[in-house]
Amino acid sequence: MNFHGIGTPERALEPGEAPFWIDEGRFRDIVGQIAAHPARERIRITFDDGNRSDRTIALPVLQARGLRADFFVLTGRIGQPGALDAGDIRAMRAAGMGIGSHGVAHRHWSRLDAAALREELAGSKTVLEALLGEKVTAAAVPFGSYSRGVLAALRDCGYDTAWTSDGGKADPHGFLRPRTSVRSDMAPSALTMLLDGRMSSLRHLRRVLGMAHKRLL
Ligand SMILES: [Zn+2]
Repeated sequence: MNFHGIGTPERALEPGEAPFWIDEGRFRDIVGQIAAHPARERIRITFDDGNRSDRTIALPVLQARGLRADFFVLTGRIGQPGALDAGDIRAMRAAGMGIGSHGVAHRHWSRLDAAALREELAGSKTVLEALLGEKVTAAAVPFGSYSRGVLAALRDCGYDTAWTSDGGKADPHGFLRPRTSVRSDMAPSALTMLLDGRMSSLRHLRRVLGMAHKRLL
């Protein structure tokens, strides 16, 4: 299950980004559902983009429930308005959270040439490793935009995990880990299905979201 921003953004949003921000009350409810779920050990929680709400809202809510999450940071935004700064990232790691790369500048990795792709993958990894003083081996693919070439480049740069946005269940030991993004327009029933592992593919999710829009649910 993948989150982006929580609460009110502290920066101008990218085109199409707004539905990926959810309000704080909804986030607290979802985390409560995860914490109470019989399969909570199998529900992985991730956050993309390195928004400041990762630290100010998500971290304390997760800690209060004894949950762990992985946070995928855009290194080009570190310290920018609305984004995590270096101190935030270190504090989250010290609190037991995972930190990974989401690249440098939020680009579509599958559209980049080899040099630009390498800068996104290796450049962001170097920044995070210097900041944390440890290896960083997990990446989350921006916009779910990947290809065989992107996966090969990730392995080449020393990553052992690539989180995508393909939806469905992930093999806990696999290189590719599909995720489903939580959106503000996601119906509560869709979320329950997701938590119960009944959402096996993105097609299912799209269908349920479409039905929610048409008020069929
Ligand atoms: Zn992103």
